[in-house]
Amino acid sequence: MTRTRIAPSPTGQDVHVGSIAAALMNFAWAKKNNGQFIIRIEDTDRTRLVKGGEEKMLDTFDRIGLKADESPKVGGPYAPYRQSERLEIYKKHAEELVVKGKAYYCICAPDRLTKMREVQQAKKQIPKYDRQCFLNQEEIVKKIMDNKLPYVIRLLIPEGKIEFEDVVRGKITIDNSNLDDQVLLKSDGFPTYHLGVVVDDHLMKITHIIRGEEWLPSTPKHIILYQAFEWDLPVFAHISLLRNPDKSKLSKRKNPVWTSWYLDQGIFSEALLNYLALMGWSHPEGKEIFSLDEYIKVFDIKDIQKTAPVFDPVKLEWMNGVYLRKYPVSSIKYLVLEFYKKQKINLPEEIVEKTIPLIKERIKKLSDYLPLCEFFFKKPNIYEVDLSNKKELLKQIKDELEKISDWKANNIGESMQGLVKNLGIKAGEFFMIIRISMSGKKISPPLNESMEILGKEECLKRL
Ligand code: GLU
Repeated sequence: MTRTRIAPSPTGQDVHVGSIAAALMNFAWAKKNNGQFIIRIEDTDRTRLVKGGEEKMLDTFDRIGLKADESPKVGGPYAPYRQSERLEIYKKHAEELVVKGKAYYCICAPDRLTKMREVQQAKKQIPKYDRQCFLNQEEIVKKIMDNKLPYVIRLLIPEGKIEFEDVVRGKITIDNSNLDDQVLLKSDGFPTYHLGVVVDDHLMKITHIIRGEEWLPSTPKHIILYQAFEWDLPVFAHISLLRNPDKSKLSKRKNPVWTSWYLDQGIFSEALLNYLALMGWSHPEGKEIFSLDEYIKVFDIKDIQKTAPVFDPVKLEWMNGVYLRKYPVSSIKYLVLEFYKKQKINLPEEIVEKTIPLIKERIKKLSDYLPLCEFFFKKPNIYEVDLSNKKELLKQIKDELEKISDWKANNIGESMQGLVKNLGIKAGEFFMIIRISMSGKKISPPLNESMEILGKEECLKRL
């Protein structure tokens, strides 16, 4: 049985798009193999918790359509799926390792550890715990018992080396002398990430761990833990982090990184998933546009690429436009109305329906609609060009348009073509003036059709 997971820590406002890219691979791999995809909340770093972060994250996974088979929300056979509710389990396992001689108690005070690290760094050595407590373990245990001292449990890194096969990165070898005796259980009773992740992945029967490359340096420690517990290893795949188009690490400073930001802009979840599927993987037929079902069919972890994928919001918008144009006008109308309703803007349905055909080819996301079409609903309050010295011409245009009895785009067009010919002025400027007086903007949806929708009375008023 294939079981995969995503294990976010609620230390940000929302789910990072890079985490969705990783979750997508985990989701697809589980679904492809008729397995389960699990969401586990890793909230053991209490100092970095963001209030409301977990709720928001779980909500985003739902919105994007990566539904978990097991999670804190839906429960499951290995509940609880929130690490802060599993403290007893971690404690029991950490103590089990002490009994096995694979871990030990440590009572060193933070200032001793800091000093030790400073000395090591000054000597250009790898900062590592000097095992003072391990060497005096019996005495330390007695001290803890007698005086109820706070303690941590540390992993005893064995001698030798760790070798493992990463699906994306190939064979990895690490000499254990580079590894520190990692704290497994903190003095507040919480596990560190390393203990929590290994215990839970084992108990939750996770078979494949697909996660960001930032966790690769932790993996040898995890493997030592699996070996200490005598547990089978899962398959590891460490995927490359997303980059900005300038190849720098994707970060809040350059581009928005929160998934719901994109969804809130009117990027469709299908389009975002499709785009993220291409981060570190390509369709075997080179296709750019494909559904989640198709992705699940053709995705294989052995095809994950090592090169750093570029997350380009411009490309994402383009792709979203492709998705948008697949919908009939009636659906786009509905999507636009709903999108703005959520922002407490109620647009008149009839006008939205009429305007969609004019702008369907131009908009890439739902939030592009109003900036282009606002003038249909209200008179512009900003004019990109000052028309105050064009009063005479505006009057002539108005008089000419007044004569039209059947207010249709082609009649409006004919009438204006006739006028511009008679006046003998440049057509470009002439139509720009009309466009500005209608929409306030130099660029707008097709003019005649827009004027038909605006209606005769309104057009004359705006002129
Ligand atoms: N809690 C870690 C995170 O925030 C999970 C890392 C892992 O997948 O092992 O991403």
